[in-house]
Amino acid sequence: MKYMNKSIEELHELLKSGEVTSKELIEESLELSHKVQDEYNAFVTILDNAKETEVTDNLLSGIPCGIKDNYSTKGILSTGSSNTLKDYVPFFDATAYAKLKEAGAIMVNKTAMDEFGMGGTGTTCHTGVVLNPWDKTRMCAGSSAGSACAVAAGVYPYATGSDTGDSIRKPAAYCGIVGYKPTYGMISRYGLFPFASSLDHLGVLTRNVKDAAIVVDNMKGIDKNDMTSWDSSKINLTKALTGDVKGKKLCFVKEITDLDNYKNASPELKAHLENYYKVLEKCKELGMEVDEVSVDRTLLNASASVYVVISCAEATSNMSNLTGIIFGPRSEGFDNWIDMVKDYRTKGFSSLIKRRFVIGSYVLQSQNQERYFRNAQRVRRLLVDAWKDLFKKYDAVILPVGIGPAKHFDSDKDMLSNDLETVTLDEHLQIGNYGGFPSITIPDGFVDGMPVGVNITGNCYDDENVLNIAYALEGAMEYKNQIAKEAE
Ligand code: GLN
Repeated sequence: MKYMNKSIEELHELLKSGEVTSKELIEESLELSHKVQDEYNAFVTILDNAKETEVTDNLLSGIPCGIKDNYSTKGILSTGSSNTLKDYVPFFDATAYAKLKEAGAIMVNKTAMDEFGMGGTGTTCHTGVVLNPWDKTRMCAGSSAGSACAVAAGVYPYATGSDTGDSIRKPAAYCGIVGYKPTYGMISRYGLFPFASSLDHLGVLTRNVKDAAIVVDNMKGIDKNDMTSWDSSKINLTKALTGDVKGKKLCFVKEITDLDNYKNASPELKAHLENYYKVLEKCKELGMEVDEVSVDRTLLNASASVYVVISCAEATSNMSNLTGIIFGPRSEGFDNWIDMVKDYRTKGFSSLIKRRFVIGSYVLQSQNQERYFRNAQRVRRLLVDAWKDLFKKYDAVILPVGIGPAKHFDSDKDMLSNDLETVTLDEHLQIGNYGGFPSITIPDGFVDGMPVGVNITGNCYDDENVLNIAYALEGAMEYKNQIAKEAE
């Protein structure tokens, strides 16, 4: 690996000075893509004919990247890692990808994901399981599994992701890299395959905070095709990274972070939380105030159920257009359309998705709507209000990501069957989706030889502040620009 382990700014300098050409970067990135595909199965498509772009003043110009396979890419296979769209070639670009292209970014592959973003394991892609580049017996988490794997393995400095519950921020933690989803609507959702529209965010996975800022500065912007997008032209994330965080106020929720809550804590969970408390000390050394706060435990425990109800309901509705008639390989040999659609959906979707459609349909039935769907929306509001209350006093909430390092495949569990004791610790990142809050995960140490992560979440539109806090903390630790050790 000569260049692809470098940061975006470093690569830009090398391109500008003529020490390396865009063509050479593409060649290296493609070679690494094939290696990473053989080893970890991170991609749906590798674009061997990717072409160099002119090197301009834009930091992304001439530099390779990966795009998650639920981003529509014009003329290029976009499957969402689902058999139902295994031959789908969009005729338009997702706005976020169009913007990256305009910046001169070069897509060298489409990354594998849990089918349509539903899942947190990287095991439900129609192209097979994505393996963790730090340890092949473990998962990358999901759904942005391929993006996290490739960035951690050093294929390129960044890959795009999407995040409906934690799908950028959890895989980033499991792979020892940075994962950032900005405020809801800062990046247009147009052309992203919808999973749960009120929760869906686009974002990026990188190896350092500044790269995340640079990429999102180029992806964001108001878009007439997404009525939830907003004008962020006054926000400049890259410029906001001063590293000066003196006097900033952080808080953590003791119901989530207290080891006493976990009677059956594994050694990994203990080590993860102990490491996290050391990170809080680092925050104090940087001049930030760190306070313990309390949030009603019953409310917190309800979060995972709220997520199941709302995300499954929205997914069921969003994906009702997958009939095999407009998109996807049409089922042949049927004399009526109902059987045709049934055959396509029965054969096309994995069992996990079907389970979620059953839940979604159930909670949307008129006799169940009040009890499940509307109550879930009410609890969502209470959770958002609880976090908004914290943001009245604090710049950000800082919490550990997950219950330890990347899980082994044999412990493979969908969030539908989560352990009650640790469910909130494992799933609290969803609150960032309920409120549309800017949220970033950075690596904060190692447990059992595997990377673990810490998350910083702030109030809507406060992305600059959140990123600057992450940037300062990253600078105070030694986990920046990590490449997975197996892949090195
Ligand atoms: N793990 C969550 C799920 O299974 C999150 C998915 C996501 O953010 N796309 O749905």
